[in-house]
Amino acid sequence: MSLSYDLHSHSSASDGCLSPTELVHYAQQQGVDVLALTDHDITSGISEAKQAADNLGLKVIAGVEISVIWRKQTLHILGLNIDSDNATLLTGLEKIRRARLWRAQEMGRRLDKAGFPDMYDAATAIATDENVTRTHFARVLIAQGHAKDMKQVFKRFIVPGKPGYVAGEWAEMAQALEWIKNAGGTSVIAHPARYKLSATKMRMMIDEFMQAGGEGIEVISGCHSKDESQRIAALARQYNLLASRGSDFHDPAIPYINMQTLPALPNDLTPVWDAWQ
Ligand code: AMP
Ligand code: MN
Ligand code: MN
Ligand code: MN
Repeated sequence: MSLSYDLHSHSSASDGCLSPTELVHYAQQQGVDVLALTDHDITSGISEAKQAADNLGLKVIAGVEISVIWRKQTLHILGLNIDSDNATLLTGLEKIRRARLWRAQEMGRRLDKAGFPDMYDAATAIATDENVTRTHFARVLIAQGHAKDMKQVFKRFIVPGKPGYVAGEWAEMAQALEWIKNAGGTSVIAHPARYKLSATKMRMMIDEFMQAGGEGIEVISGCHSKDESQRIAALARQYNLLASRGSDFHDPAIPYINMQTLPALPNDLTPVWDAWQ
């Protein structure tokens, strides 16, 4: 029997709804054997997740999802199988989290001007360790009745061109890859089909990612359609990239992102976990 790997998930240390312990129990119930905890720009949930997994027969892989800028575009790079205490990595992530906090203040000011007061305080109040994301703002806006669901709240308030959107001042891609390498991890481009990149730009991005030492790409993602997964699988073949698979789970109440129904990797690709055994 081959093991079921889910190498992309979030806990309440970033914008997930479940605590690291709850997440690990949930993953086990969903039939996951190996779970990577990949919170946005923070590794503080990993020790709790590992401890919770100890008695369950589930393995937790230490990971992180780093917010980066590539040519003015925000991308997410996963660092998998990292040393989550590595000083270089932790210092880099702290810098990104300071940018997050500054951005959240700015989002609060803009939403205030648009007639939605006190959003910064409300969003940070539901975030752990001030690691505040747009998801936290979204939850507050929904709770106050300003939108009916996640899709609507993002579209109305916190995407480019909308009153509460502020671009993040994230790390340079090459910098993030350096931190991941320093921490002994494998870097993987997260949910590549989600970025609004032309085919040419996508190839440029992959070229630069690989030149900077990047190794893998998320072929199967909870955020990809079947067609998108096939398109990314073709890129993985063409560039000889390691292939990753992850649900990008945040919340049990969001049914379309599901650990259980996530497709398998195409078997001709080399899974990113092959080198870890
Ligand atoms: P941030 O890193 O603070 O910009 O927040 C990004 C997070 O917001 C992502 O990791 C997703 O979890 C969430 N997100 C982004 N766009 C959407 C969307 N259209 N619907 C629901 N969640 C979204
Ligand atoms: Mn998220
Ligand atoms: Mn992401
Ligand atoms: Mn994610």
